[in-house]
This record gives sequence, C-alpha cells and structure tokens, in this order.
Amino acid sequence: MSKLGIIDNLTRVRERIARATRSAGRRLEDVTLVAVPKGFPAERVKEAIAAGVRHVGENRVQEAARKRDELGEIGASCTWHLIGSLQTNKVKAALDTFDLVQSLDRWALAGELNDRAEGLARQVRVLIQVNVSGEPTKHGLRPDEVEPFLGRLGQLESLRVEGLMTIAPLVDDPEQVRPVFRRLRELRDGLARRRWPNAEPYELSMGMSGDFEVAIEEGATLVRVGTALFGPRTEPPGGR
Ligand SMILES: *Cc1c(COP(=O)(O)O)cnc(C)c1O
Repeated sequence: MSKLGIIDNLTRVRERIARATRSAGRRLEDVTLVAVPKGFPAERVKEAIAAGVRHVGENRVQEAARKRDELGEIGASCTWHLIGSLQTNKVKAALDTFDLVQSLDRWALAGELNDRAEGLARQVRVLIQVNVSGEPTKHGLRPDEVEPFLGRLGQLESLRVEGLMTIAPLVDDPEQVRPVFRRLRELRDGLARRRWPNAEPYELSMGMSGDFEVAIEEGATLVRVGTALFGPRTEPPGGR
C-alpha cells in the first residue's frame, strides 16, 4: 500500500467516525481512534503516525515490541494498547512495550500484572475484556462475572481499571452486533454508579473496521481499526 493510501484511509475513517458521533449526538473528542497495524511492518506505523495517529493497538507482544523499538522516539510519541490475549509469562515484556492492556480477562493475569507493575513502581492501566456474545472461541469474562471481578481487583493497588473491552462476532451486517455493544455500555453504566478503589470504569473499547459506527452510536470511547486503515491482512494474526 502506498503512503497516500494510509493518509486517504485515515481521512475516510475519520469521516466515518465524525458522521457516527454526529448521528449519535456525541462529541468527536469523546471517541479515540486506535490504529491496529498487526501484520504490517513498522514503516506503515510510521506513516500512520506521520498522518496523525496517536494510539496504536497490537495483539502480539513480540510483534509490538519489535515495531516500537524500530520506531524509537516516533513510537514513543504514541500510546500503545495491547488488544490480544496475554500469557502470564509475557507480562514483563508486555509492560515494557504497552501503556495500556485492554485484554485483562482473568484473575491470575491481574495478579501478575499487579506484581510486575509494583516492581516497576508504576501503575498499569487496564481494561477488562468481556465476552458479551458468549462465543466459546473468545476470551473475556462473562458479563455477570465483571462486577465481582472488579470488586476483587480493589486489592491490587498497582492496577488502574479504566473501562471495558469487547470483541463482537464477525457478521455481515453490523446491525446484528448492536445488542453486543449496547450490553457492554449497560454493564459499564451499572459499574459507574458505584465507587471503586482503583477503578474508574468509563472507557468502552468496542468496534472494528466493519462495525465501528454502530459501536460509536452505542457509546464506544475507543475504536480499534485495522483493515480500514492499513488494508487487508494476508495472514490475520490472532484473527477475531
Ligand atoms: C485485528 C483486531 C482489530 C482490528 O480489526 P479490523 O477488522 O482489521 O479493523 C481490532 N480488535 C482486535 C482485538 C483485533 O484483534
């Protein structure tokens, strides 16, 4: 893909985001675009950053670490989001590379993230991944597990829970996944009525290339966009 390709694609994605926020009566600045360059080299990320991208999402620790290293200061100007599942033995490497972990999906991982973050004398920003659709291939807590999980996380003082994330099923018509996005928002609204020691669960990371307008209409604050920015992937790493 040419350099112009990414600039044009970014313009188009921004227009789609603007249209969706307008139709939902929301403010443009309430939706953050997370560009997902998985499967594409650091050079493409560099072009995206030059075009104005400030948030990068990757689903593999090593791939992201390599790109972030390669990009040096340019890469450091962005916020890096881990959006793929994280093995406990990769937590240390993940904390070296990512500013925010969107895929917190189990207690053991929370404990390991907390211990490592404590060792680094920092807080680690996380989103809780929720498997709203109940697809067996997907990671994430069941919706009814989220509230007790958040309660337990109160013990882990080096974690800061900023919200929820979900991956909707792949469908032809994005209207079909509207209930998934709506459910995540309702869950967030319920949690936001209570006070939590180390959590302010406001963010909703939901929506990808094919369905982010619907996600924005349902309240998404972070949309994760790969294909619509970088083009089709030959080998979808991690898939959906
Ligand atoms: C790959 C991926 C995306 C981006 O998907 P596109 O359909 O290419 O926009 C978003 N979120 C997660 C978790 C992903 O793995």
